[in-house]
Amino acid sequence: MYKAGNASVLGLVLGAEDFSDFLTRSKVASRVAQHDQELIEEMQVKLAEIQDTKDSIEADKIDLEGTKSQQDAKRVQLAGQLADTQDQIQDIEALEQDYLANKAAIDKQMEEVQAEVDAIYAKIKSEGEYEGGIMLWPVEGYETVTSDYGWRFGGTDFHTGIDIARLNAKGEGIYGKPIRAAADGTVAFTQTTFTPGRGYGIYLIIDHGGGISTLYGHTCGLNVKLGDKVKRGQTIAFVGSTGWSTGPHLHFEVRVNGAYTSPWPYLQ
Ligand SMILES: [Zn+2]
Repeated sequence: MYKAGNASVLGLVLGAEDFSDFLTRSKVASRVAQHDQELIEEMQVKLAEIQDTKDSIEADKIDLEGTKSQQDAKRVQLAGQLADTQDQIQDIEALEQDYLANKAAIDKQMEEVQAEVDAIYAKIKSEGEYEGGIMLWPVEGYETVTSDYGWRFGGTDFHTGIDIARLNAKGEGIYGKPIRAAADGTVAFTQTTFTPGRGYGIYLIIDHGGGISTLYGHTCGLNVKLGDKVKRGQTIAFVGSTGWSTGPHLHFEVRVNGAYTSPWPYLQ
């Protein structure tokens, strides 16, 4: 774009050789000045546009800061909720009360669940020999067994596994903690959805060979897929409270050819 400064306009006029030339030069100078004026106006419009853009960026920035502080607040709230959930401990008394109060319905439901599990095991073809040795404790740092294998609730309900729950040495709740494969094996069954209050919730079965399998119940989510080969100690799921459960815990079972058995001889 052509641009003339005042010095060059003055120079243009003062360089006139005679009056006619002066007039011509004055007209040119006037046009140049006119052009400069237009240029200035154009610049002012552009400046105003830039100012508008700057203002709108500032406004966006304020909006973003508002959104960010909302997100921060939400994050703090969620962290609080998570801590609350983690502090929850499995309430075995509540489970017993629920069982005794609704015994007929729960017995019927458990019969159905066990029939489903039997059908699942009937389809599992155990591969190879069991070479796992003593199994790994499935939730590292959580030693408390809130409900043992065998008859419970005054001999009214047979517990087909052990419940691992409560807190670790640091006082952290078990919810969301990794569940480890007790031995090498293959993921033989996965259940990824659940009905609240019913059965094992989200669970999986690992075949270890020789007809020996382990079952991990009430998880909040799985970390492996059906058919995956897993290594002893690998994270396969996370502790939850899905299914018939009154607080975060792992229900751990050992089965031999589909029949539940005490896990203790395999763990010690
Ligand atoms: Zn259990």
